[in-house]
Amino acid sequence: MSYIIKGETGDWEVVIGLEVHAQVISKAKLFSGASADFGAAPNAQVSLVDAGMPGMLPVINAHCVAQAVRTGLGLKAKINHRSVFARKNYFYADMPQGYQISQYDQPIVGEGTIILDMPDGSTRAIGVERLHLEQDAGKLIHDRHPRESFVDLNRSGVALMEIVSKPDLRSPEEAGQYLRKLRSILRYLGTCDGNMEEGSMRCDANVSVRPVGATELRTRCEIKNVNSVRFVMQAIEHEAARHVDVWESGGKIDQETRLYDSNKNETRSMRSKEMAHDYRYFPDPDLQPLEFDDAFVAKIKADLPELPDDKKARFASEFGLSAYDAGVMVAEQANADYFEKVAKISGDAKLANNWVANNLFAVLNAKGVGVAESPISADQLAKLLVLIKDDAISGRQAKDVFEIMVATSQDPDKIVEERGMKQITDTGAIDAAIDQIMAANADKVEQYRAGKVQVMSWFVGQVMKATQGQAKPAVCQELLKKKLTP
Ligand code: MN
Repeated sequence: MSYIIKGETGDWEVVIGLEVHAQVISKAKLFSGASADFGAAPNAQVSLVDAGMPGMLPVINAHCVAQAVRTGLGLKAKINHRSVFARKNYFYADMPQGYQISQYDQPIVGEGTIILDMPDGSTRAIGVERLHLEQDAGKLIHDRHPRESFVDLNRSGVALMEIVSKPDLRSPEEAGQYLRKLRSILRYLGTCDGNMEEGSMRCDANVSVRPVGATELRTRCEIKNVNSVRFVMQAIEHEAARHVDVWESGGKIDQETRLYDSNKNETRSMRSKEMAHDYRYFPDPDLQPLEFDDAFVAKIKADLPELPDDKKARFASEFGLSAYDAGVMVAEQANADYFEKVAKISGDAKLANNWVANNLFAVLNAKGVGVAESPISADQLAKLLVLIKDDAISGRQAKDVFEIMVATSQDPDKIVEERGMKQITDTGAIDAAIDQIMAANADKVEQYRAGKVQVMSWFVGQVMKATQGQAKPAVCQELLKKKLTP
């Protein structure tokens, strides 16, 4: 399923690499003890280090280092036991030090892989180039005063993991899948909350195009700080089309940094792209090279949770889910846990998958809540499935019970009991209903006997109606056949 842009002169493909800045889950900042919590009053969480006061020395936060290693392990990446912090020099009003402490040619994590789960059930392996640790800048606030801007340094010094993909992505769809999968892995690991709207995960997209079949890379543009998966996909689609237009009209693409405007669905030039040498990177003299031993990594490795890919494989083999269904179910850990509980208690994983993926997710999506706020607990849904499996209620009744559970959060047993919804197993009651319906519809009986067997479904419907849906359709059909056959 390749993504081709049809141009005037031929077919083009898009080449995408993503740089994700993921805010590390940590109580304190990367090089100071100030709180990294979101939402405090402006400048309430700023140490002298974060404010760039002269003579203040950074002290590495070991927890942030462990989080980066944990993430590297989750990305099946090479962990570098020795890495170096470097100064990236540039001036901006939200960064009082005049440089960002980052990592340059010796990052803490090297090459890794992210597996994309495509909608057709296939997978694609996307290379991760590196992951490095760096500090975040503060925030400029422009909308509080007509002529003045304000600086909030609460975010200054907060730990970020910059995760850089290889230019392996070939469509906006793949870019979206990559971001969702990366976010899923980070959340499983507990190293970043992945909240793009709040800015704790931010994405820059490097986009270029080339004629289908070409192997060289053409000039790329970098689209900065797009704050949702959907906007990243839109921005790439738009930017790729712009490149094709420029190349085909005989122009050339300048390497530059562009901003995506989601209101107008267009990208605008922000600045011509700076090169690495513009930043005059050099090892930070205030910090030792970062070194740790095998035991440090082994301890973190021993503590890793079951990650989405492994869980997906297990759900497929243990519960017989299709690759696609398993991929959907494991994307969020809370969903996976919920499903697994329902599957185990009910003893029917396929039924559990149908009810969770279709019925329950539809309700949660409509309410805009996650599984943690579900009106139906996993235990309750499992009980409902047991009622279905035991033939205690019909499929139609199950849907009704489910609706009542959504509205009241009551146990299904109680709902069935109180409303007398038990499926009729007493054939006498069904027999009586059939006799009545046949007597009142002699014409339909004639039709059936003349060979028009399709009226059977009409009869079944009438019996279901007469028994308020409490009869079992298969039983109705069996009894009807006996009585209708002369
Ligand atoms: Mn960065």
